[in-house]
Amino acid sequence: MTIENTTLSAFHVMAKPTGAKCNLRCDYCFFLKKEQLYPDSNFRMSDEVLETYIRQTLDAHRTPEVTIAWQGGEPTLMGIDFFRKAVAMEKNAARPGVKIENTIQTNGTLIDDDWCRFFAENNFLVGLSLDGPRHLHDAYRRDKGGNSVFDKVVNAAKLMQKHKVEFNILCTVNAVNSKHPLDVYRFFRDELGACYIQFIPIVERENDSGEQAGMTVTDRSVRPEQFGRFLIEIFDEWVRRDVGKMFVQFFDGVLASYIRGYSSLCILSPTCGEGVALEHNGDVFSCDHFVEPRHLLGNIMQTPIGSLVSSEKQRAFGRSKSETLPQYCRECQFLFTCHGECSKNRVLKTPDGEPGLNWLCEGLKSFFTHTQQPMRMMAELMRKGQWAGEIMEILAAGEKGNKDELKTAGRNDPCPCGSGIKFKKCHGR
Ligand code: SF4
Ligand code: SF4
Repeated sequence: MTIENTTLSAFHVMAKPTGAKCNLRCDYCFFLKKEQLYPDSNFRMSDEVLETYIRQTLDAHRTPEVTIAWQGGEPTLMGIDFFRKAVAMEKNAARPGVKIENTIQTNGTLIDDDWCRFFAENNFLVGLSLDGPRHLHDAYRRDKGGNSVFDKVVNAAKLMQKHKVEFNILCTVNAVNSKHPLDVYRFFRDELGACYIQFIPIVERENDSGEQAGMTVTDRSVRPEQFGRFLIEIFDEWVRRDVGKMFVQFFDGVLASYIRGYSSLCILSPTCGEGVALEHNGDVFSCDHFVEPRHLLGNIMQTPIGSLVSSEKQRAFGRSKSETLPQYCRECQFLFTCHGECSKNRVLKTPDGEPGLNWLCEGLKSFFTHTQQPMRMMAELMRKGQWAGEIMEILAAGEKGNKDELKTAGRNDPCPCGSGIKFKKCHGR
């Protein structure tokens, strides 16, 4: 492997201090199988690795802000003292003037008042995994005994609100909850009081290795058309009443492509490779979704993390996202925002037999088609220095005037709402 001795303007590390260790057994979790990579490990990051990781990460950044991201497995299994140590090390290692933000992704089951006080005092941004209301969350996210953990997770959200901890919801979109988009969205908005949501489609390969290999996906995976419907139904509610109040990461990412021609979300970028995964023992892998031997870049105890991230091997990984894009995607009208989405989801062949088509393509296409007009309108508002949320009034006024036209539209007519697609596939469904 070629090691480049460059410093990077920004990169992102997802550190896994407990490796794949977790106190839950979510059926769709791709990461639990990663325990097989370290058969004799105690799955706890040592102080030496912790200190090396923080020092190297801060050294390699040339940005005024640095994010230190903690993930799992379940990182809170390390206990609060581990993170107290980490924060103290960050303060020691930071260059003057550099702002450090810690983020942590958790299943929420161990969060109590002490954790919340710690998060609040140290400005941690917390990602809480929750798949919707009880019956949807319980479908796949249970503890090792198969018991529901829903109440604990909701309690964690309430505690974080009490302690004014900033948190967002990370919701997988799977075979079960994808059929209930508005139940999921309204639960987060109306019952939980959450404002920031990330939807993560479950596209889980059917194999025992946990690797991104093979061309079949499990029954738990979200169906492509269902993923599209899920996003569309939530978007339609969001764009009519919640713009500027609720933040859905995927919507913001697509809107950014309309405004400035690119999104900072890796899944919506032409190339990737700026976000690596750090295992508990210092091993660095190309991406959180590719913690596999063939994507091991090296170990930070031997090679600085900045060199691993800027290595030719990692650059090739990032470039391969666009280099392996099938012609079908290259000719797609939504390439500018989709870019074939994430490489890990590319399990299909195109209609003309080329490999590398995204499992979610059908759903992504219907979402991009359905939302292109409101996305363009919001982008235009913002370009003119206006607030994107003005679209809510514009749509309300337009829909009032459209009511009569909707009543008389033919099934094959363009939809009067102005979406650009046929009435039968839009408001005439
Ligand atoms: S493989 Fe997917 S998740 Fe990983 S960095 Fe690339 S686009 Fe992002
Ligand atoms: S919508 Fe489908 S065809 Fe178009 S770029 Fe995305 S994955 Fe490729």
